[in-house]
Amino acid sequence: MTEAKLISALNEENLSYFSKTYVPSRLLLGPGPSNAHPEVLNALSLNPIGHLDEAYISLMSDVQKLLRYTWQCNNRLTLPMSGTGSAAMEASIANFIEEGEKILIAKKGYFGDRLVDMANRYKADVSVIEKPWGKSFSYEEIKYEIETKKPAIFAIVHAETSSGVLQPLDGIGDVCRKNNCLFLVDAVTSLGALELLIDEWKIDLAYSCSQKGLSCPPGLSPFTMNERAEAKLSSRKTKVPNWYLDLSLLNKYWGSDRVYHHTAPVNMNFAIREGLRLIANEGLENVWNRHNTNAKKLWNGLESLGMELHVSEDYRLPTLTTVKIPPAVDGDGFRNHLLRNFGIEIGNGLGELSGKVWRVGLMGFNSSEENVDRLLNLFDTELKKFSIFESSTF
Ligand code: PLP
Repeated sequence: MTEAKLISALNEENLSYFSKTYVPSRLLLGPGPSNAHPEVLNALSLNPIGHLDEAYISLMSDVQKLLRYTWQCNNRLTLPMSGTGSAAMEASIANFIEEGEKILIAKKGYFGDRLVDMANRYKADVSVIEKPWGKSFSYEEIKYEIETKKPAIFAIVHAETSSGVLQPLDGIGDVCRKNNCLFLVDAVTSLGALELLIDEWKIDLAYSCSQKGLSCPPGLSPFTMNERAEAKLSSRKTKVPNWYLDLSLLNKYWGSDRVYHHTAPVNMNFAIREGLRLIANEGLENVWNRHNTNAKKLWNGLESLGMELHVSEDYRLPTLTTVKIPPAVDGDGFRNHLLRNFGIEIGNGLGELSGKVWRVGLMGFNSSEENVDRLLNLFDTELKKFSIFESSTF
């Protein structure tokens, strides 16, 4: 008896009854992942080639060029890391923090908390400044904290997906430079969707994901770092305590040497090349405008239906809108109804906003007028069915 038969016999189960993999069709208007563009799916389904094949090496260069355009930077070390956004987030901490080094984290939601958790695990000396979920920091507040705390790194989330806040970043890069501090930005929900100027804003290192603005499935995390960050990395006294995410090793594969580090997820790189090509084709400013226009249409439409938005328009995030769940409405019931009957996903609030807001995402390929109209129409016709007052009369 072979081992496979033995396992199957032990489970007393014949696994051959499984049907072919089936996935229902969904319109993903939540916090991510967002739907992948059909051309991205075509690229993803191509047969893999070797990760040292010259055709693949040329594709890697294309991805890097397209990423530099999308990041708006000239950084040599610009690459898509294997893994979701949290992989590049962790790389940003693991490579740039040595034990006892000071990091200042501006926290205004769930993903700020994740940065704090990671920095503690890598034994940083962590200082935190905090805002309620739904508010942003002012330039003056950040400047004061950097000047008084003098951290080696200042980290902030540009687009806080948990609260729906877009953090203005103007001027912070200059403050960091004057105070000999690296400026680290989480751009997971902004890259390829919202204005983000890595060089002009003097951002030293930043990371993102593939599954939102880039219209790809989850699986890669674009990362970029400039010469200031490279200098800090090469002056480390200790080895990076994470082999898989060690940027000096990854640099040997993504830099000029193209030396094997780990087997690249080649199909995901086919996909990201296509997602980035579509952005370059449309033009970055047109992409940003499309996201802003569709978000405004959504906000106006929701408000004219009597819905309240959680974040003030001054710093509301176009890629992710937090809509207050009216007090008399069964929030989970409505979300499940949209998913089961219309194939549309919107998100519940995360953390302290759970049960208080819905999260509506318009990202990448999904940021379209048609999707906004479809969703507004459903809010108009279906929401009343979930009024607790109405159902309690039955
Ligand atoms: N940072 C932000 C702002 C996010 O929204 C997310 C995920 O949505 C992450 C980090 C983590 O990315 P991932 O879930 O792709 O690992």
